[in-house]
Amino acid sequence: MEREAIVSEAAIQRRVAELADQICREYGLEKREDRLLLVGVLKGSFHFLSDLSRQLSFDVEVDFISVSSYAGEKKSSGIVQIRKDLDTNIEGRDVLIVEDIVDTGATLRHLRELLGTRKPRSLRVVSLLSKLQARGIPSDIEYIGFEIPDEFVVGYGLDYGERFRNLPYIAILREG
Ligand code: 5GP
Repeated sequence: MEREAIVSEAAIQRRVAELADQICREYGLEKREDRLLLVGVLKGSFHFLSDLSRQLSFDVEVDFISVSSYAGEKKSSGIVQIRKDLDTNIEGRDVLIVEDIVDTGATLRHLRELLGTRKPRSLRVVSLLSKLQARGIPSDIEYIGFEIPDEFVVGYGLDYGERFRNLPYIAILREG
């Protein structure tokens, strides 16, 4: 299998700092009763959530949800299952879903619907990567790190059969 780096470690770190600035500006203006709750979507978002949260200049809470749509495959099954639910009651809370990558958008649509029924005060999404533009799909995601080509990528949390999550950069994975 061949790997072609498309987003370097330095580029990721720069963009994460920019996203954190934008999030701080936009949430900082609002009057909030509670801390912002970052909801990391396991497992792929663990590096992104870790880096992003440390760039935010205000106190946040962190929780995780685990969903499966690929189950070790390179293509989405289209079926989204909750494997681990949140520990936090999000009613009345400001919630920011932290996602690694958006491909068809099905996972996020499902997550927004599910978490929306729990009546958060606000619900937004930050995704490090998106293939929506490459796929010609309109985006409703509030914060996006990088639009990438419609290719299968690994690294910085993203895996192929549990491999490559610890690469510090993003690479296209090709058979061969
Ligand atoms: P969607 O529901 O938007 O089609 O897919 C979202 C999920 O599929 C992501 O959270 C991620 O787990 C997985 N996924 C989508 N594209 C890729 C990719 O290029 N590489 C890896 N490793 N996972 C991906």
